[in-house]
Amino acid sequence: MKITKYFHLKMSVALPIFTFLFSLWMTYEVFHIAQLEVKHKAQVNFDFRVREATNHINERMQAYEQVLLGTAGLFKASKNIERNEFKQYVAMLNLTKNYPGVQGLGFSLIIPEAKKTQHIASIRSEGFPEYTIRPDDPRDIYTSIIYIEPFYNRNLRAFGYDMFTHPIRHEAMQKAMDSGKAIISGKVKLVQESGKQEQAGFLMYLPIYRNGTNNDTLLERRENILGWVYFPFRMNDLMNGIFGENATDLHIKIFDGERMLNEALMYDSGGSNLPSTGELGKTLQVQIAGHAWTIYIRPSLPISSLVDVYYPKLVVVIGTIISFLLSLLIWFLLTGRKYASDLGVEHQRLDSILEGTHVGTWEWNVQTGKTKFNDRWAHMMGYELSELEPTSIETWTKFVHPDDATTSGNLLEKYFSGELAYYECEARMRHKSGHWVWVLTRGKVATWTPDGKPLMMYGTHMEISQRKQLELELTKQAHLDYLTELSNRRHFMARGEVELSRAIRYDTPLSLIMLDIDFFKNVNDTYGHQVGDTVLQVIGKICQDTLRNVDLAGRLGGEEFAVILPETPAKEALEVAERLREAIAKTEVTLPTGLPIHFTASIGITTLHDKNINFDMLLNRADKALYKAKETGRNKSCVG
Ligand code: GH3
Ligand code: MG
Ligand code: MG
Repeated sequence: MKITKYFHLKMSVALPIFTFLFSLWMTYEVFHIAQLEVKHKAQVNFDFRVREATNHINERMQAYEQVLLGTAGLFKASKNIERNEFKQYVAMLNLTKNYPGVQGLGFSLIIPEAKKTQHIASIRSEGFPEYTIRPDDPRDIYTSIIYIEPFYNRNLRAFGYDMFTHPIRHEAMQKAMDSGKAIISGKVKLVQESGKQEQAGFLMYLPIYRNGTNNDTLLERRENILGWVYFPFRMNDLMNGIFGENATDLHIKIFDGERMLNEALMYDSGGSNLPSTGELGKTLQVQIAGHAWTIYIRPSLPISSLVDVYYPKLVVVIGTIISFLLSLLIWFLLTGRKYASDLGVEHQRLDSILEGTHVGTWEWNVQTGKTKFNDRWAHMMGYELSELEPTSIETWTKFVHPDDATTSGNLLEKYFSGELAYYECEARMRHKSGHWVWVLTRGKVATWTPDGKPLMMYGTHMEISQRKQLELELTKQAHLDYLTELSNRRHFMARGEVELSRAIRYDTPLSLIMLDIDFFKNVNDTYGHQVGDTVLQVIGKICQDTLRNVDLAGRLGGEEFAVILPETPAKEALEVAERLREAIAKTEVTLPTGLPIHFTASIGITTLHDKNINFDMLLNRADKALYKAKETGRNKSCVG
């Protein structure tokens, strides 16, 4: 018992703690998964944004390429492109609006050494007297930016510049010429840069071949090259044009070429002083018009701007709360179960006690009449409980003796009203086999309705038949004369009073007989006291046999008897007396010797005449009549 209790105590502490720790661990696992999921989501979102950004760059650059191709078309369409034509064409494109980020659109013409002077003269004659090709050191082939639109501000600085002399530009121009495709250059400083707010720049070239030439082979392309249409780009302007406000969540760096060298950095969106966000960050290479760029992108805003990072935190909070509640619940269950099992034990204990005491129980809802009994309650009346079900208060009223039901009802009323401190009632219940079973029923109201009416009442039934039997025996003995089994003096007198008052109340006749054995002393003296007793018993028997049920015979003492005759007038009383006297006279008692003896009795009779009389007085009158009978010869009845 002790060990189980100790074990239970340990369990009721250990199990909740274990549950708490286990569910905390589970919470941690879920938190971990949630975090991974958040990271994954962040990665997916970020990847999407990266793809979006690079697509933007690609699309925009392709659009520029298209414009260059369009410009090449312009050259193909006419033999000579005049400055004005070019100007109008570019104005039509509305670069600033439609292609933000581009510095201008230009055309660079190839001029062989032989035609240099003529070329310079020709351009000067267009109204540009200071025009010359820069740099002007002698070489076989010159190129010159003859058109650059819009032709003002910093673009003017490009006018006459030989880009072919610059290695990076040269490489791109050469590649474009050789491939016939649009090619962008590496990182350069545009001639347009004034030194203020300098930006990295690059150019996009598309070769223009002489009209009507076939340019399928490299040789043909080198032979027929006329010049290049090109876009000078300022990197920051270009990127701002591409992303506008859209890339504020990204930190983008663009490097010229395939490596992220500091000197190759062309663009840095900056705007982020955030510490590195861990794994999120991507380096990728893109091919833009025949040239490689390395783009590095990382989020510029906290990861929370990409995904809902509160989710794992929520998991922790909710998980911890659930863990706590769960262990609390288990604790309650365990201690509650202990409480319940305690209750169970208690219940069993009570059951055993009730079983041991053979007590029936009842639970009565006074308001609804619903009543529950236990098995023992039914057994008392020889039934199984199941035979009586469904039970109600009617079950009780059906079995209880009507007189006792009334008594019980009265007692209950008194108890409910507070007049009685408790309810206790002895009642007869009809047994299955027909006889009455005495029970002592006791009960107590446990709950009351708010308006003070009894609600639940609980009680017991105890069988008291044996006690009742004993009581009956005792009363009988207290009332009877031990020798003759007639009423003794005390009981006779009491009954006499009752019968007298009833007769007076209902105005019915009542007679009283007194009887005394004649010369009884002689019987005793001659045959012994024993024989005397026998005679007394015989007289008692004669009384019982001769009289009606309603008559009451008693032995008042010695050899004196009396009989109350209710509803009997004097005349009838005399007849009864005579019948009695004659029966006594006829009777013989056999002595132990075998000889019979005879005896007689004298009787005095009186009848109720006036109402102011008590039983003693009536008895006196009968006694007087008896005396008269003795006086006048014995063995006779006298009325007095
Ligand atoms: P009578 O009544 O005719 O005048 O004469 P009696 O002999 O009967 O006189 P009395 O009534 O005085 O006698 C009473 C006698 O009854 C006295 C006693 O011996 C006897 N007696 C009284 N009680 C008992 C008793 O319980 N048993 C026996 N055996 N005798 C009793
Ligand atoms: Mg006498
Ligand atoms: Mg006598």
